[in-house]
Formats: sequence, structure tokens, C-alpha cells
Amino acid sequence: MTSPILPTYARAEVVFETGEGVWLVARDGKRYLDLGSGIAVNALGHAHPRLVAALTAQAEKLWHVSNLFQIPQAEQLAQRLVDASFADMVFFTNSGAEALEASIKMARKYHAVSGHPERFRIITFEGAFHGRTLATIAAGGQAKHLEGFGPKVEGFDQVPFGDWQALAAAITPETGAILIEPVQGEGGIRSVSPNDMRLLRRIADDNGLLLILDEVQSGVGRTGKLFAHEWSGIKPDIIAIAKGIGGGFPLGACLATREAAKGMTLGTHGTTFGGNPLATAVGNAVLDEILAPGFLDGVQAKAGLLRQRLAQLKDTYPDVIEDVRGEGLMLGLKLKVQNTDFVKTALAHQLVVIAASDNVVRLLPALTISEAEISEAFVRLNDVAATLSAQK
Ligand SMILES: *Cc1c(COP(=O)(O)O)cnc(C)c1O
Repeated sequence: MTSPILPTYARAEVVFETGEGVWLVARDGKRYLDLGSGIAVNALGHAHPRLVAALTAQAEKLWHVSNLFQIPQAEQLAQRLVDASFADMVFFTNSGAEALEASIKMARKYHAVSGHPERFRIITFEGAFHGRTLATIAAGGQAKHLEGFGPKVEGFDQVPFGDWQALAAAITPETGAILIEPVQGEGGIRSVSPNDMRLLRRIADDNGLLLILDEVQSGVGRTGKLFAHEWSGIKPDIIAIAKGIGGGFPLGACLATREAAKGMTLGTHGTTFGGNPLATAVGNAVLDEILAPGFLDGVQAKAGLLRQRLAQLKDTYPDVIEDVRGEGLMLGLKLKVQNTDFVKTALAHQLVVIAASDNVVRLLPALTISEAEISEAFVRLNDVAATLSAQK
């Protein structure tokens, strides 16, 4: 197959034409149960009526005006994010990597305007994924993402995930921040426990560091709270979000306390598309659902059910599944077979799951998945595990 698109992805042969909730319909008419949600993006499933209505209503009025003008939809979305979180200030972007770039620049600027421009270094963690821009590949620190792209952006010091002593030892007078995912996504669904999150907050406070959380994948209801860090009770200084907040429309944001954001004054940062009327109209509709009374409780209940089913699956197929991990509806199966084989076999059973590092497959269903659909997912996962078990 020849395609003019850069071959940077190994794409499955399937073409999806329509979607409805957790279901995707391929060109050949086959229906697939989607436990991937476009990598945690379709938080409310496909073609959610509220999102379709918000998008089309805004599309008929005004798509884009630039950030040289007032954008009430963006003001409203920012205010709602502030009201529902630790944050005082918001900067909108189109993607997760850009939300991280804004967060990194903000942390550096904070120290610069505090009289410490030398404190530009940021400690990150092995297995991290923060995006594919030059700064975020340096933050992620993965050789396969950095190789051949010239000098690595200076200022990122990586320590092993979960090794808080190594973290403490890595702090120097040039360190300005700690950047971590509350639950590593690409890294294989590895969680920072609430206790460890509190420890990180303490280490940051004791050393005058900003705590930046990458909630691009874990945020917007994915773990059963609006943001994953809420499980620990701590307040970060800066977080990056994206993926779920647009429900499929490209939208991200950097959220910060007023103090952390104090250096980001007129002209210090910008974006052409970020926070435009179309994107933020959809973002508001996403929050209408996720912040509705009972919605996140429902996510927690469904997560409990799915988790229970997955534990059952592991007990039935210990030769296929080594471990079940994750929080809420951000779950991972650590496998004893190749995760890429699992993904392919799942697709053959009309089930979409997503591979991650550490030989894990991720289950990131729409937060709107029903109990019946969870049961159907369990049936298909059983078939996949049985097939792989028989092949061993
Ligand atoms: C997806 C992801 C990113 C990058 O987001 P893009 O929208 O692809 O730029 C950053 N951090 C985490 C944790 C992610 O899951």
C-alpha cells in the first residue's frame, strides 16, 4: 500500500466510517467495540448528541476569530475549569504537547521573574511520555524519540519512575520543577500512589520547586475524578490537559495557580488556534456532561465493575495476563503474550484496545460505557485471551 502520509505509524487495515457511543462501524459494516477511545480522547464516546449539537450550533455561528478578540466560550470554559480545580489561570492549546510546552515555559518563567533564571531544569521520569515536540521529547527522554533530531533540548533530568530517593538526589540549585504523569499512559499504565503524590508535593515544597502534572491522559474524568491528582488531595502548581477535554475536537490547556503563572504576562506566549470558539464550545459541552451531578460517581462504579471482570479474566488466563493495573477507566493488562498480538487478535474479535510500553494493553473506554457494554467487552476479552492461550 502506498500512501503520501509519512509512514510514522503502523496502521491497522480497518477503516471506520461511523461511530456511536462505544461502537465503531467499519466500511465493511462490521461493528467494533471501542475500548481505546482514540487514545482516551473520545471521553463521551463517538457522536455524542450533546457534542454534535454544540459543534454544529457553533459552526453555524463562528469558527475562529484569533486571540486578538474576546472569546466568551473560552472565558466560560476557563472559568469552569478554575471553579472545578486548584487552578486560577488557564492557557488553551490544540494538543497535549503544546499544553506541556506552555507548562514548561511557565515554570521556567516563574523562576526567571522570581530572580532565579538559573532554575530552568526540570526533573522527569523514565517511561514518561509528554508529546513529540523538541522540548517534550527531551522531557520524555526516550532514545527512540530523540535519535537523529539534533541536540536534545537542555534542562531535563530523568530519574527512575518511583525512585523518590533518586529524585531527591537529582535536585540541584538549577532545578525548578518536577514533571510527572499521575498515571503513566504510554509508559504502561503505571500509577503514582496517593501517598507518593503527597511525598512529591512535600519534596517540591521543601526545595522551592513547582509540581507540574501531565494529566493529558489521566485528566477529564478518566480516573473517576475530574483530575487524577485529586485522589491524593494535593494541589499541583501547573497541570497540562488535552485528549478528553475536546471529546475528539483538538483542544488542550495548561492550568495553573496565579503564583505559578505570574511570569506569563502580555506577549510572553501565544497560539493562533488555541481556545478558538469552535474548540471551546465543544469543551464546554464535554464539561456539561462530566461535571453533571453523579457522572463521575458513575465512572467510579463502572470502573469497579470492569476492574472486577478483568481480575476474573486474569484468574482464568494466568498464562496470558500477568497483572491488571490502573485507576478508574484508565486500565492496563500487563501481558505474558506479545501486546501487539493481543491488539491484533482483539481487532479480529471486533474489539479495539491499545498497546503501551512494558508489554501492556490499555483499556480506555468512553466514560459513558454502560454496564451491558462492559459485559460485552468482557465476553470479547475472554475470546481474545482464550485464542491466545490456545496458541501458546
Ligand atoms: C497524548 C499525551 C501527550 C501528548 O499529547 P498530543 O495531543 O499528542 O500532543 C502528552 N502527555 C501524555 C500523558 C499523553 O498521554
